[in-house]
Amino acid sequence: MAIKRETKLVCTIGPVSEDLLPDLVVAGMDVARVNLSHGSREDHERMVKGVRDAAAEVGRPVGILVDLSGPKVRMGELAAGEVRLERGARFVLRRDDAPGDVSGAPTTYPGLAGDLEPGDRVLLADGAVELRVADVGDGVITDVVRGGSIRSGAGVNVPAERLGLPAITPKDESDIEWALSAEIDMMAQSFVRRAEEVRAVRSLLGRVQPLLVAKIETGPAVRDADAIIEAADAVMVARGDLGVELPLEEIPLIQRDLVGRATRAGVPVIVATQMLESMTRSARPTRAEVSDVASAVFEGTDAIMLSAETAIGAYPIEATQTAVRIAEVAGGSGFALPTPAAVAPTDAHLVAQAAASVCLQGGVIAIACATRSGRTAALLSAARPRVPIYAFSPDERAVRRLTLYRGVHPSVLEHPQNTDVLIEMMDRRMVEEGHARPGDAVVMVTASPFGAPTNLLKIHHLGSSPPSPDGNAR
Ligand code: PEP
Repeated sequence: MAIKRETKLVCTIGPVSEDLLPDLVVAGMDVARVNLSHGSREDHERMVKGVRDAAAEVGRPVGILVDLSGPKVRMGELAAGEVRLERGARFVLRRDDAPGDVSGAPTTYPGLAGDLEPGDRVLLADGAVELRVADVGDGVITDVVRGGSIRSGAGVNVPAERLGLPAITPKDESDIEWALSAEIDMMAQSFVRRAEEVRAVRSLLGRVQPLLVAKIETGPAVRDADAIIEAADAVMVARGDLGVELPLEEIPLIQRDLVGRATRAGVPVIVATQMLESMTRSARPTRAEVSDVASAVFEGTDAIMLSAETAIGAYPIEATQTAVRIAEVAGGSGFALPTPAAVAPTDAHLVAQAAASVCLQGGVIAIACATRSGRTAALLSAARPRVPIYAFSPDERAVRRLTLYRGVHPSVLEHPQNTDVLIEMMDRRMVEEGHARPGDAVVMVTASPFGAPTNLLKIHHLGSSPPSPDGNAR
């Protein structure tokens, strides 16, 4: 039996991958990220349809994660499209919208001068250019501390705690409405500062909620991490903006700490950005990048994410295959993972914990679970059993949400109205789909009587016949 990769792979879709979506699914993409900071509504609709068509063509579920832009300030139009700022020069961030030049430029946030004070640091273009605020008045007058080139639309990072922009911008509101109507599976919230901002987005999500992924990419979010983890369905260690907001050397510590906190809370976590960055231009990654991906797997992350590598890079398929190979080998090493979630006093939690404990004894090769909403499979993943979890749900949307969870391999199965028949059906699927052989021991997790909340764990030898509903053996 082939090794089953536990760690999931999120690939960002962009111009180079749009035409290769079936290849990306075959290569191992579990979740497709559509970044709403780039492209038009039409582009995003085309990507969502393309991912769904590719998943259907290949016959494997793929979750769709839309990433909201959030309160990010950007440079406005520059007359020449690009300017080079020299160290020591003056540069004014203006509130008008006349095209910019070397002396100053507009930004997308006219209220910026009201939020900043002399001495504040402003970073442009992912930190390539650093400005220091000298004075504020009608605009923000700055001195260039580190020179460099900036383009129209470049990011403008100011200390997040000072930024007065609301957590949900009018663009986000419109994007949330569209994403819900498109029935996407997961939604990432950018530039979260506090847990109440996560709850504010959740209040807009309606009845069938996508998983809400809080991106941890600001200093205040790092400080409020536990409350944000509790408020969200999943978190992302968004190392790109984190590395602009905070000193770069702190990122590995923050990553390790956040992955541990999320794992202990039973909340899925994604490690993102520049994981195989050199593969945007080279067919082979650097040794340091391979180690970085493997370290995230050892730390126990649920998913790793590729950004430019699959969106605009020269080797999107190779980057995906490389991430998969590293995750398979690192995940198969058996190194210890952080202590999993503490048990909450519900039957389903207790069954999940017991299932993991049985699997850690050895001898059982997999878990098969019946799950309607996906919750039982999520609890099993959080318990980190170190064997594959085959999750069978009648709900296609639940199946797609489960694509993010470490160790879970979800698929659609109509549930019959009888627990024994359901176990028999899961037994058959496990063998037919090549997940296990007759005679293998698996843990079956379901409920009895049928329809009750999860309360049943069975050590099951595949191919052993449960009685049929009329009580006779098969
Ligand atoms: C990041 O900053 O690491 C990130 C994932 O966000 P984005 O790609 O939207 O900048």
